[in-house]
Amino acid sequence: MKTWVPDDRNFAYLNWKQVDALPRDRTLLVLPTAAIEQHGHHLPLATDTLINNLLLGHALQKLPADMPIYALPPVCYGKSNEHIGFPGTLAVTASTFMALLRDLGGSLSNAGFQKLVLYNTHGGNTALIDVMARDLRAEFGLRTFALHGSGGIAFEGLSPQERAYGFHAGEVETALLLASVPEMVDQLAYTVNYIADISNPELLLPENAPATFAWLTRDIASSGVMGDPRPATADNGARWIDQAATRLAAALEAMVRYANKRQA
Ligand SMILES: [Zn+2]
Repeated sequence: MKTWVPDDRNFAYLNWKQVDALPRDRTLLVLPTAAIEQHGHHLPLATDTLINNLLLGHALQKLPADMPIYALPPVCYGKSNEHIGFPGTLAVTASTFMALLRDLGGSLSNAGFQKLVLYNTHGGNTALIDVMARDLRAEFGLRTFALHGSGGIAFEGLSPQERAYGFHAGEVETALLLASVPEMVDQLAYTVNYIADISNPELLLPENAPATFAWLTRDIASSGVMGDPRPATADNGARWIDQAATRLAAALEAMVRYANKRQA
């Protein structure tokens, strides 16, 4: 898999004596979580994994050299059962995903590390990341954090419809890949599909509402796309990558500074 993570920020490139010399109380380890799943006719299966590595790698490149932050090898397989039925989707169950994160958290705790952030770029994992950040805190006493996607940047230039319902293989994901791995984007194979329409509000919505319906992609998007990739440009992608990396780097630095022991 391609990587934008600098070699000197890659935890797995250290030997155990170098790991042993890291300051246990301050070192922040980043566990990337993503997916290998269908992304329509025009983007690769590894889209979420590539975006994770791209944004995290650029964020790590922005950090001061003495900031003790290392990227762990990613958990590429995620809870992707919303995309079952499409060739190439490789999903793990919620229990498998959570068991793997628990075992990795246990290993880090055993080695005396105290700070772990789960950095996730696949929506299907989001609920499990929040569960595991709290469970790892409770079970092992790790100081855990959750970090998602682009770190909350505004994505200037997106239409309101795409902002609300560009869930999957739409403008943002396509632009990020056009800016970084354009050879993996088939610009002749774009399809457009929306799961809901902001101009026609309904009581039951797919996400972010008091009343939701649980969706499977095959029920509502035969091409696998939820969004509109057509307006995507490499220029917007490059700008969003830089903005996201700045936000993510600031969040990582705040996690290093966050006190391990806090008093009420
Ligand atoms: Zn995706």
